[in-house]
Amino acid sequence: MKEYDKLIFEISKPGRKGYQLPADKYGVDGMSAIPAGLMRGEAPELPEVSELDVVRHYTNLSNKNFGVDTGFYPLGSCTMKYNPKINEELASLPAFAGLHPLQDVKSVQGALQLYYELQQALSSLAGLKEFTLNPYAGAHGELTGLMVMRQYHKLRGDDKRTKVIVPDTAHGTNPASAMVAGLEVVEVKSRPNGSIDIEDLKPLLDDTVAGIMMTNPNTLGMFETEIMEIASLVHEAGGLLYYDGANLNPMLGKVRPGDMGFDIMHINLHKTFSTPHGGGGPGSGPVGVSERLVDLLPTPRVVKLDDGSFDVVYNGDESLGSVSTFFGNFGVMMKAYAYILSLGRDNIKNVGPMATLNANYIKESLRDLYKLPVEGPCKHEFVFDGLADKSTGVTTLNVAKRLLDFGFHAPTIYFPLLFHESLMIEPTETESLETLDEFIDVMRKVAIEARENPELVKEAPVTTAISHPDETGAAKNPILSYKAMKA
Ligand SMILES: *Cc1c(COP(=O)(O)O)cnc(C)c1O
Repeated sequence: MKEYDKLIFEISKPGRKGYQLPADKYGVDGMSAIPAGLMRGEAPELPEVSELDVVRHYTNLSNKNFGVDTGFYPLGSCTMKYNPKINEELASLPAFAGLHPLQDVKSVQGALQLYYELQQALSSLAGLKEFTLNPYAGAHGELTGLMVMRQYHKLRGDDKRTKVIVPDTAHGTNPASAMVAGLEVVEVKSRPNGSIDIEDLKPLLDDTVAGIMMTNPNTLGMFETEIMEIASLVHEAGGLLYYDGANLNPMLGKVRPGDMGFDIMHINLHKTFSTPHGGGGPGSGPVGVSERLVDLLPTPRVVKLDDGSFDVVYNGDESLGSVSTFFGNFGVMMKAYAYILSLGRDNIKNVGPMATLNANYIKESLRDLYKLPVEGPCKHEFVFDGLADKSTGVTTLNVAKRLLDFGFHAPTIYFPLLFHESLMIEPTETESLETLDEFIDVMRKVAIEARENPELVKEAPVTTAISHPDETGAAKNPILSYKAMKA
């Protein structure tokens, strides 16, 4: 093991220091300026290392990480996108980053304009009347949207409507948000291609249904061609349609949820519009609604006045009230705004088609070696059911781990639950043909290795810092300090 791969406590040497304090001012050990009563009795157990030790140790650690900045990230149902560095720079402009949420509206006109224009841009991309940008994440947007749904029925005195229909392929946050919103979850079955089974849906539609939550393209990346029929069935039964727009790239410029009959939706700015995500934040989950639901949106809202200036308003009695402190995560909104403007009205129309082309290119280039359970063109992502030839016992997990040896992040594995060996791939629109070809070559190589040298694939990865961690153990009994590890 190299010196700087060790734990920082293991490279510690008694007396080694990474700082120097002027002896004349603070005493020889730099401590005498601290009153005796505040001094601790015993020195803390800290590693004793030089500045160079610390810098090398942490720089080496950071190089062991994998990120979109280091390589291709084909994770499905979780768009990891190109994050233009200029967006970060814009989001940290002191004129915006230094604002205080309690400043007078006259002094924050630029920020309000940005909020308003982003809201307008999302409305026109989604085909919905108005957005609130206040929710902090996708799941928070779902909760907000479902509260709008509940409020709509409540205001009409329709108190029986407590059920939300959720497909069995839905993202886990959908049923969870419905429960948190105080609604009851009813599952609707999918057909083998992942689309909603209309015959299974019909008997569920009665006067207790508040609405349905779905996404289109569905979790298998297939477009729900019967969406107009589904929408009219749900509307006839008195329910509303909620669209999970966490990953909007397959649609951008081509189809709009509002035109498909959806009444409420959320968008993850941190998946579709360039903010890096992972590790839990920061995020932003704007919620859009059709015209009849605008007054129910949470407050505060930003409006444009007749004289062209911007103001903050608090909705009346019909509104949900507040769902966040002030206006949500403003920095994330700035990056989304910059991304949308830098693509522009014309280029944004290419996002959906390019994401779709890239996904189909990979799918068609690998389908002889991996099992494709659903035929036909996909949208932005697709799912293999493991290797086509499973006779040597190499699993999806083994394939995913072997990819790490070749410098690729693994695709999403074992989701959706429709297949035993799901391997879900989403390249996104921003990758070059060369990168897609490299990935295809490696996927083909791994499939051939699995047939000819299966043990090699089962032992992978062999080039990474750790190989087969006990994931359950790490989650259940995390060891968070050096002391705990030594105990
Ligand atoms: C990521 C995701 C969510 C949840 O978004 P968060 O910001 O992680 O709360 C919801 N639905 C789908 C389809 C997603 O991919």
